[in-house]
Amino acid sequence: MAKPKAATVWLECCSGCHMSLLDLDEALVSVLSQIDLTVAPITDFKDYQFPQVDLGIIEGALGNDEQVEIAKKLRKSCTLLMALGDCAVFGGINAARNHIPVEELLRKGFVETASTVDGLPPHAPELPVLLDRVKGVNQEVAVDIYVPGCPPSPEAIHFALAEVLAGRAAKLPSGLLQFD
Ligand code: SF4
Repeated sequence: MAKPKAATVWLECCSGCHMSLLDLDEALVSVLSQIDLTVAPITDFKDYQFPQVDLGIIEGALGNDEQVEIAKKLRKSCTLLMALGDCAVFGGINAARNHIPVEELLRKGFVETASTVDGLPPHAPELPVLLDRVKGVNQEVAVDIYVPGCPPSPEAIHFALAEVLAGRAAKLPSGLLQFD
């Protein structure tokens, strides 16, 4: 029987959730032996044309239009979508900017910092456009599995993946839920 396929991306994030996935240690070998990982942050992946997969995993919030596009493309290409970590679940630390207008944010970051001389906000047409507010993934696309935590523990990630592989709805027990 063919292995289930998975694709995983990181969007507006620090990569800590994927590091927690790697912290499964030897259990990672077992998990990876049961799935066909088609796309990951370390694969050379152009234009975000995902293959059809059974499980899509998103680490990170949606903070610009490119990230929204990637989330929508992955949603269309997967049967189940997992929001991995607080950033994906509700925006996480990225949402701290949500009370600051984007123009002010760019001015503070690129013009008014103490070390900046003649700074300008970036404006190249190929750059993604910041959203007015950072969003959790489910504010743009439907999410089937939530694994909160900053980062989620390896145990929580392992539980969620094992449940998906067993064909069950991955609903974390309270002992594995964390919001920090
Ligand atoms: Fe990093 Fe925490 Fe966001 Fe995961 S939830 S990407 S560990 S800030």
